[in-house]
Amino acid sequence: MQWIAAVYFKKLWRGRNKLKADEMNFCSNCSAPVLRQIPEGDDHFRYVCSECGLIHYQNPKIVAGCIVTWQDKVLLCRRAIDPRKGLWTIPAGFMELRETVDSAAARETLEEAMADVKIDELFCIYSIPHVSQVYIIFRGHLEQRDFAAGVESLEVALFAENEIPWRALAFRVVHVALERYFETRHEGDFRPYIGVI
Ligand SMILES: [Zn+2]
Repeated sequence: MQWIAAVYFKKLWRGRNKLKADEMNFCSNCSAPVLRQIPEGDDHFRYVCSECGLIHYQNPKIVAGCIVTWQDKVLLCRRAIDPRKGLWTIPAGFMELRETVDSAAARETLEEAMADVKIDELFCIYSIPHVSQVYIIFRGHLEQRDFAAGVESLEVALFAENEIPWRALAFRVVHVALERYFETRHEGDFRPYIGVI
């Protein structure tokens, strides 16, 4: 019983200490505590260092992804990692520093599906303001039927429109983007769509 309580409190303590993605306790410049305040001339709360005065600006994260096709099928990956482990998604992930957005989409496709995608064009941009993310999704295709599960995927497979596992998709943005893809794919003029989730 004592042992169970110890494990429980350890978990509770860890949970309490875990910062959310946009939370900050200490300055990365001088390691002094930061304060949350509106700097002079600004209209947003920022983390401001209590010692060196550095203002730590925070901005949305960009996720680059790709709807990858082989003939009339779409390549999906089943996630091997949290969040949404076990569910299906398009190849997509956070951009790295000093990377371009299309090469980020191609890199994610290589990492998650071990596939060499040819990026064709910009397909859609979705802002997801409640999590401060922006998804930039391209259309691309495979020149060879060559793919496999990367370390972040349990499996990778091609799906025709009537085979898409709609109820087992990992994220709403993927659902919405795939729906839009199948609705518009026969239209000749592909204009990038800008939406909000
Ligand atoms: Zn500082």
